Amino acid sequence: MPALIELSGIERIFQLGDSEVHALRHLELSIAAGEYVAVMGPSGSGKSTLLNLLGLLDHPNIGIYRLEGRDVTTLSPEEQARVRSERIGFVFQSFHLVPRLTAAENIALPMTLAGIEPAQRAKRVEQALKDYGLADRASHRPDQLSGGQRQRVAIARATIMQPAMILADEPTGNLDRATGEEVMRLLEELNQRGVTLIVVTHDTTLGARARRQLLMEDGELRHDRTIKKKSNA
Ligand code: ADP
Ligand code: MG
Repeated sequence: MPALIELSGIERIFQLGDSEVHALRHLELSIAAGEYVAVMGPSGSGKSTLLNLLGLLDHPNIGIYRLEGRDVTTLSPEEQARVRSERIGFVFQSFHLVPRLTAAENIALPMTLAGIEPAQRAKRVEQALKDYGLADRASHRPDQLSGGQRQRVAIARATIMQPAMILADEPTGNLDRATGEEVMRLLEELNQRGVTLIVVTHDTTLGARARRQLLMEDGELRHDRTIKKKSNA
């Protein structure tokens, strides 16, 4: 079986006026389906750039990204959008919910965009609201929700299309410790059910929960460490 994710020879260079920022340098990375990976490293080390590439929100200048064995760097924007919609769920630090839509409408959005019929949509949203403890918040707008509730809406939205992987960029960055723990637990439950989980964090305590830890520095992958499973795990 091919790796879920395979990056080879990836370079990402941002042009800023006359100067260049080398955000990712000769990156080689392979991630198998079902892994739980934490991406750590100081601010500016390329963590978000890496996640955006993995999520097809950005393109490398050089190199190949294979997703489920297929080179996705050469797909048309429409084909990439389709892969994104069907295979990838995003969770961001600042939630990225649509302010004027209710919790239920935010969760339904990926299905609306994918053209799933209203009855099916309503059924799945109802289940997701239940699953994430949001049943009594269905018609609240984001500004009427707590941070933890907003992130739960975001996770429900990210998973409503049953993606192969969840990409989370500092998902607990705007939450207090206890709420952050709860959000991590929800993401980890998804991983236990087989969803590949890639979490960017600069919190080493949170990062240590992942089986595999990547350390980024100056756009380079400095360490790639997999913790052996305990025998009873
Ligand atoms: P991290 O998420 O680890 O804090 P980023 O991936 O956001 O780091 O950024 C890596 C480097 O690339 C930084 O120097 C940042 O300023 C630069 N960078 C990121 N995105 C852009 C962009 N769109 N345009 C120009 N420079 C960028
Ligand atoms: Mg970042």
